[in-house]
Amino acid sequence: MEKVVIIGSGCAGLAAALYTARANLQPLVVTGRQPGGLLTTTTIVENYPGFPEGVDGYELMVRMQKQAERFGARVKFGAVESADLSKPPFALKIDGEVVEAETIIIASGASHRHLGLESEHKLENKGVTYCATCDGALPIFRNQPLVVVGGGDSACEEALFLTRFGSSVCLVHRRDTLRASRIMAQRALAHPKIKPVWDSVVTEVLGVAQNKVTGVRLKNLKTNAESTIDCAGIFVAIGHVPNTQLFKSAVEMDQSGYIIPKRGAATNVPGVFVAGDCADRVYRQAVTAAGLGCAAAIDAERYLASLSH
Ligand code: NAP
Repeated sequence: MEKVVIIGSGCAGLAAALYTARANLQPLVVTGRQPGGLLTTTTIVENYPGFPEGVDGYELMVRMQKQAERFGARVKFGAVESADLSKPPFALKIDGEVVEAETIIIASGASHRHLGLESEHKLENKGVTYCATCDGALPIFRNQPLVVVGGGDSACEEALFLTRFGSSVCLVHRRDTLRASRIMAQRALAHPKIKPVWDSVVTEVLGVAQNKVTGVRLKNLKTNAESTIDCAGIFVAIGHVPNTQLFKSAVEMDQSGYIIPKRGAATNVPGVFVAGDCADRVYRQAVTAAGLGCAAAIDAERYLASLSH
């Protein structure tokens, strides 16, 4: 039986692993399908304290894992398929194998939100993508017009990154001001290759018959006017949805699926704790996720200590 199983290996999961490992609890970290979490898909991280020149997102996560392993954390590649949290010991099925645990820290993060269009689904990986750093350098996008959808930091970051490869980047946003932080918004709007398209939503991704993206159909929400933009790629950066489906029947969450922490990092299930983006609809930063991972680890450690008294 494991003392602590941590579900997720992003900033929250690996910070929880570091703290529980240093508390001698030999945590087992289950990576999920994206080891290292969403930060591994970003380029340079400029706002994680301690790195004045910035740090590559992938490298940061590799370092965090090594740091946790140094103190005895074990990292298991795999995804949790089902979770029985009805009573302790909790039972997790991880790629077919059942693992029992006295405590669980859910740090399962969030996934990219999709537009929800049939054409988007049909052309996924054929020009529709959710990660510029993963796919931006592909030959199909080189020297081609590209579209980014969204108005947050991710959209600005994606657009700026894509200026290295595309001939132009249209930034399509449903309002006429960006939600992104001022520094990111200013950088994006000042770039000569980036053209904002305000008040507009994508209603169709074009190219299904050709089996590759050839453009997007847009609707202006103020005028209802329709238009099209020719492009070879559409990068959707419209936020995230929490990865919490598995825990829905046991753990209290809000309507959008964000887990609702009780005191500190505790959930409504004694022995089950939560950390990071799966419970945070407000801050969603690498540093806050790491802080919440630390808090969940301390709460789990205290819970285990209270059981043995
Ligand atoms: P976000 O801040 O939630 O922004 C999502 C954007 O997508 C918003 O502009 C939103 O429009 C738009 N949107 C949402 N649903 C849509 C839909 N169905 N159709 C069209 N547009 C839609 O998400 P994010 O940019 O991924 O950022 C998430 C968090 O990570 C934030 O806290 C951000 O600061 C952080 N982050 C930071 C950095 C950095 O510091 N370099 C980089 C990336 C992310 P509205 O504005 O109209 O709501």
